[in-house]
Formats: sequence, structure tokens, C-alpha cells
Amino acid sequence: MANEMNGTVAVESLPVSGLPLETRLFIDNEFVDEHDGTHFDTSDPTNAKVIARVQEAGKDDVDRAVKAASRAFEGWSQSSGAFRAQCLNRLADLMDKHMDQLAEMESLDNGKPLTKAKEIDVPFSLAVYRYYAGWADGKLDGKQIPISAGNASANWLCYQRREPIGVCGQIIPWNFPLAMFSWKVAPAVAAGCTVVIKTSEKTPLTGLMMGHLCKEAGFPPGVINILSGHGPTTGEYIVRHPMVDKVAFTGSVDTAQKVLLAAAQSGMKKVTTELGRKSPLIVCKDADLDQALTVAHEGLFFNAGQSCIASSRVFVDEAIYDKFVEKALKRAKEEKLCSPNSPECTQGPVVDMKQFDRVMNYISLGKQEGATLLTGGTRHGTQGYWIEPTIFTDVKDDMRIAKEEIFGPVMTVLKFKTLEEAIVRANATSYGLGAGICSRDIGRALSVAHKLRAGTIYVNCWNVVKPNTPFGGYKQSGVGRELGEDALDNYLEKKTVIVDLSYEDEKDEKAAGDATGGPN
Ligand code: NAD
Ligand code: MN
Repeated sequence: MANEMNGTVAVESLPVSGLPLETRLFIDNEFVDEHDGTHFDTSDPTNAKVIARVQEAGKDDVDRAVKAASRAFEGWSQSSGAFRAQCLNRLADLMDKHMDQLAEMESLDNGKPLTKAKEIDVPFSLAVYRYYAGWADGKLDGKQIPISAGNASANWLCYQRREPIGVCGQIIPWNFPLAMFSWKVAPAVAAGCTVVIKTSEKTPLTGLMMGHLCKEAGFPPGVINILSGHGPTTGEYIVRHPMVDKVAFTGSVDTAQKVLLAAAQSGMKKVTTELGRKSPLIVCKDADLDQALTVAHEGLFFNAGQSCIASSRVFVDEAIYDKFVEKALKRAKEEKLCSPNSPECTQGPVVDMKQFDRVMNYISLGKQEGATLLTGGTRHGTQGYWIEPTIFTDVKDDMRIAKEEIFGPVMTVLKFKTLEEAIVRANATSYGLGAGICSRDIGRALSVAHKLRAGTIYVNCWNVVKPNTPFGGYKQSGVGRELGEDALDNYLEKKTVIVDLSYEDEKDEKAAGDATGGPN
């Protein structure tokens, strides 16, 4: 099906034209072949057919990429902010120009509806580059710190510089490939760092397209290096490479533990993590029920539930529980499961068979645990990985479906009696990426918002993520914040400089004073 020529692949069914589909590694601004003959297939989740055979970066390839990034660091970190901004802005312009192709490939490789890729994934990703272009251009300033002297004659200047941390190893997941790429690349290169980024083995193709665009945007060789490969091999080689100074990871908590351990064992690298799990939404009895339903539904079913911040535990006041459940059922049935290319499609398949099996396994677990399966629970169609929008009601806090990340189109609804109880139950988790509340009483909503232990709190909304809204987790949901000004801190060291300001005349006077007989 795929005929390979010079590392590029022509696929009959491929809707993408213009940008060549690359399958090689992107190192030092060139697409190059990997060393040891390893490759893997990425497939189309609508029919399990192979889209392309992609080259996997082995240990030598990772070494080559990290060395390229290391060589590029000196020049890039000392380049003018205006130049870095220009490269980032050009990259955003090129993404805009190739919007359709990027969206088509994102949809093909991941299975998300094409309309969403065009309306959300690509425009949001390119906005992230533009936002950090703004920071790169002369705004990464430090501060002056007034230090007073114990000794009155001492006079010092103390200031703090912010300096790029070095070579960054960036590891991203498959749920939002282009967006995650932008979160990991834009702030890092804006700050003057260079990167080696590994895309997910489930969705490597748009990352490789970005290689073409990074080069055309004018980034010097070695500033952005893009590798495909699996986690325990390529990913771990990057994390353990001695010339990597910093690691950023998004994905599962289990993998994050391995990444943290590997980074600690290989030079105590700084690591930031963005992990997900069980974000709670509290629906109060005074909520606008239709609005609350939209929040809960979109919060969970967006991207077929494959979102780190999915509102996967919906706590509903018992006074409105039955009405809420009735509306949730109706709304779930309105989802359109069909080809992601169809403008009608609102829910695509999950990303691959492994994820499909994982989600289906949680569905049977929910039934065994005694939750009520209100709707869904089955495969949709006969090929591809669609799962019917699924809702479990009567879910109890100690059920595994209420505690573990399902990462699929499965909503769990829990009933509460008092708001205080709901807050305690919502917080009774070791995770804390997001949380939310629906209420018409803004005083109540905000007082609950301040009590919920999570990095982002949504009041009467969900899924609002902008280039300038810091995003990250409390507790086990992560370390550090991505997006916004905060993300720059992940890529900048802080250096304190202290200067003795006493100058020659002062010293001369002091010496003269001493010579003419001071009070000694
Ligand atoms: P994962 O955490 O294993 O993979 C995420 C990234 O880490 C991928 O690029 C992968 O290749 C890499 N990786 C894996 N093992 C590694 C290692 N030892 N060293 C370095 N890198 C490594 O996630 P998955 O297996 O693709 O999905 C499993 C579950 O993880 C999902 O069902 C979901 O619950 C969760 N997940 C969460 C997010 C999120 O956004 N928070 C994203 C993807 C997956
Ligand atoms: Mn794929």
C-alpha cells in the first residue's frame, strides 16, 4: 500500500498533498535515515490500516540529535530575541498556510474529527508559537534586587538574569499531537533552549511535517530536532542522555515515574510533567441545568474522552440528579460517530487497539463493580475503534472506574447530598489537574473554586485552554506549569549577580584618610 522512496511515502488514500509525508528522522535541519534498521507502523484508527512505516530513532540516532541540539545551543541562546521571535512567527505563518494539510494528517493519524482539527488543534497550536514569539522578543528580563549592607560603607549591585537552561528532551503523547508539540517547543526555543522532541509512536506524522516547516521558518540547524520512536527505547535514550539538561513529559502517571527515575539516575536532570487522571466536576442544584449538561458532556466527550483534563467524575446534587441523568442520556445519543472526514462527525474512534481494549476493559469493570450502565458500553461499527458514548450512573467513589484514568468516551456520574461533602469527595484523590463547578451563585462557585485542589478550576465552563492560561497539576498530576508566562520558567535558569560598586576615588580617599592618621 505504501511505496517507499527516499524515506517519503506515497499512500493512495492519503488526503494530504503539498507537504511531503516524511518518515525519516529530523536532525540538524535535515531528514536523515536512522542507523540500525528499526521502524514501526502508524495506522489509521478508522480501519486499522497502516498509513506509513516510520523510522525509529535508536541510541546512536538519539546521540546524533542531542549533539546537534548541543552544538546549536551556543548560537541560539545568544541570538537576538527579535530573531527567535521572527522564526517562531514564521513557523506560525507556515502552519496557517498549511492549515488544511496539517489538520488532515492530524485527523488521519489520530482519528479526531477533521472539523475539530481545523477549528481547534491547528489554530490553537499556531497561536502558541505566536504567543511565545511575543515573549522571545526582548521580554525575558530579569530584576534588580536591593541588598542592604550590614557595613554602611559597602555598596553593591545585585541583579538576576534569566538564562536558557540548555538542551531539552521533550516527550509528548498522542491525544493532541500538534498542540503538545507546540507546548513543548515554543516556550523552550523562545527562551533560547534547543530541543530534541519525541512524538508518540501512535501519532508521529504531523510532528515530522513540522520538521519541514521549522526549517522553512528559518530556525538554524539543530535548534529543533524531531524523532519518532517508542517510549522505553527512544524516549528513555533521550531522558538518559548525559547532554540533555532538562526533560518535559506529558502522558501517563506510570510512565512519568519511569521518566523521573531515569532523569534522576542520569545526572539529576530537571523534569516537568503534565499528567491527567480524574478531574471532578460538581454540579450544584442551582446550576443552569442545560449549561451544566453542556459543560459535563463537552468536558468528558471532547476528543472521544482522550483528554488529560477530561471531567471524568461528575458529582451531581441529588435534588437534580434524575433530571441531569435524563438530559445526559439524550445528549450522549446525539453524538455522531462516523468518518472523521465527514462534517457531521462529532466523535472519532479512539487512537488504536490498545486504547480500545483498555477502555472496553474499564467498561466491563464498571459493570462488574455494580455501576449502572445508562447508555453505550459497546463497540460502534465493525471496523475501527469507535466506542459508543458511555455513561455510568450510581458510581461509588471506591470503584476503579471512579479512581483510574479511563481516557475514553466514558462518563461516570456520582450523587451527592451536601456541597461540603462533594468538595471533600472531589478532593479525595491523589490527582489534581483540573476541577470545576456549575452554579448560578457566583459567591458559592468561587468559594468552592478556592477549596478544590487542582491546577485549573472551571466555573460554568470546561476545556478553555489558551496560550496564556497556565496549565498543570496539583499533587500527582504534575510538576510545573505549561503555557502562559509560567512555562518560560521551566526553560530559564535564574542567575544572581552581585557586584561590589566601590570605586577607585573612594578607595583613594579611604587610603588618604588612613595615612593622615585616622582614629586607629
Ligand atoms: P504513555 O505515558 O506511555 O506515553 C506518553 C509518551 O511517553 C509517549 O511518547 C511514549 O512513547 C513515551 N514513553 C513511554 N514510556 C517511556 C519511557 N519509559 N521513557 C520515556 N518515554 C516513554 O501513554 P500511553 O501508553 O500512550 O497511554 C496510556 C494511558 O496514559 C492512556 O490510556 C491515558 O490514560 C494516559 N495518557 C495521558 C495523557 C495526558 O495527556 N495526560 C496522554 C496520553 C496518555
Ligand atoms: Mn496513528
